[in-house]
Amino acid sequence: MQGIRSGFTSSIKKVSLILGLGFAITAPLSHAAEPNTVLNLYSARHYQTDESLYANFTKSTGIKINRIEADDNALLERLNSEGAKSPADVILLVDAARLWRAQVNGMFKPIQSKVLDQRIPANLRAKADAEGTTWFGFSTRARIIVYNKDRIKPEDVNTYEKLADPINKGKVCTRSGSHPYMLSLVGALIERDGTAATEKWAKGMVANMARAPKGGDTDQIRAVASGECAVALTNSYYLARLMRSTKPEDVAVVAKVGHIWPNQNAGGVHINISGGGVAKNAPNPQAAIKFLEYLASDAAQIYLADGNNEWPVVAGVKVDNPALKALGPYQVEKVSIAAIGRNQVAAQRILDQAGYR
Ligand code: FE
Repeated sequence: MQGIRSGFTSSIKKVSLILGLGFAITAPLSHAAEPNTVLNLYSARHYQTDESLYANFTKSTGIKINRIEADDNALLERLNSEGAKSPADVILLVDAARLWRAQVNGMFKPIQSKVLDQRIPANLRAKADAEGTTWFGFSTRARIIVYNKDRIKPEDVNTYEKLADPINKGKVCTRSGSHPYMLSLVGALIERDGTAATEKWAKGMVANMARAPKGGDTDQIRAVASGECAVALTNSYYLARLMRSTKPEDVAVVAKVGHIWPNQNAGGVHINISGGGVAKNAPNPQAAIKFLEYLASDAAQIYLADGNNEWPVVAGVKVDNPALKALGPYQVEKVSIAAIGRNQVAAQRILDQAGYR
């Protein structure tokens, strides 16, 4: 998750260096406290606005939050190695591919919550079974297309499918095909276009590449601005972050790059989530549910979304974010995020067979 920890303070960095674990422990974890008076939060996100988010929860409930913050892979490894003894109560991750993987690995405890069922749209959570729902989306991001305004006519790159068309030979850049953001997009295309068409798409993408996949989404945007690539895929918040930056080099990048909401008359833009659920062996399960319900409140939704230039999931909640406003309105895909998660094994197979590194 490139850039996601940009809000870390230097003192927190020092702590994680001393521990040598890649984790930032902001408070000691404790089993000794009365159950449900504390909450152990394993989170793959950290923004400055999150401080207020957590402080407000503690203020209104009296529940103290102990945080373990690390990137998604490090969190999942830690949960794996802790096993049934893990003190984790709530796990927050980004991308349906990772949430689905954590679900398959048995890391979540299914829960019943009327509040979450009412507030989180059904297509933005794991499919519920008799025991409940394992994870919920709390903010959305879109996978959009960026292009070099000197090299590309927007109408040639206004759908995901056109990126794989021979008209774009030698022009396309993306990050690795093994990355969750690409696996989820391909998982969505399998739902939308079918397996055979998606196999053909993956081969077309490989044939059109300006360079072998490398780097993160921000690197793709920069390479589009420099002209090394003519068109690329990125999650929306990476572009929004550059749009809000006042650094001259970022301003120059944004000036060179146009953005497209893909497939606006053809199935909508691919949407993903950051989300989370209650940990399998949560020692404080009631506090965990309370926290997730809090994340679905209007105020928390605004902190969560705005902190990473994302959109709230709860209907009617709006963020006042100049970059999101500038990106404009858009049509989203009608695909269930649970189906996108489930499709990731098929997506990886398709990308591997196409030679999409
Ligand atoms: Fe990211």
